[in-house]
Amino acid sequence: MKAVCPTCKKKIDWKESRYRPFCSERCKLIDLGRWASGDYRIPAQSEEEAEKEAESSEGQDADSNDRPNEGGNGKSPA
Ligand SMILES: [Zn+2]
Repeated sequence: MKAVCPTCKKKIDWKESRYRPFCSERCKLIDLGRWASGDYRIPAQSEEEAEKEAESSEGQDADSNDRPNEGGNGKSPA
């Protein structure tokens, strides 16, 4: 069975590689290094966004109650 080293794209023999799916220990370490340095990013919702969403859905109810006082009629408090 043939495989391709994810690091250097070299073809390797799956059965013969001690470091599969990498062709060598070097490639394995390089790949680990990439993870550590943030080269591979896992797309995930940031905490900030999650907070924003929770805030806006919570705030909508309170906001609709207050809205008439907040300049809906164009009056500005003197
Ligand atoms: Zn390699």
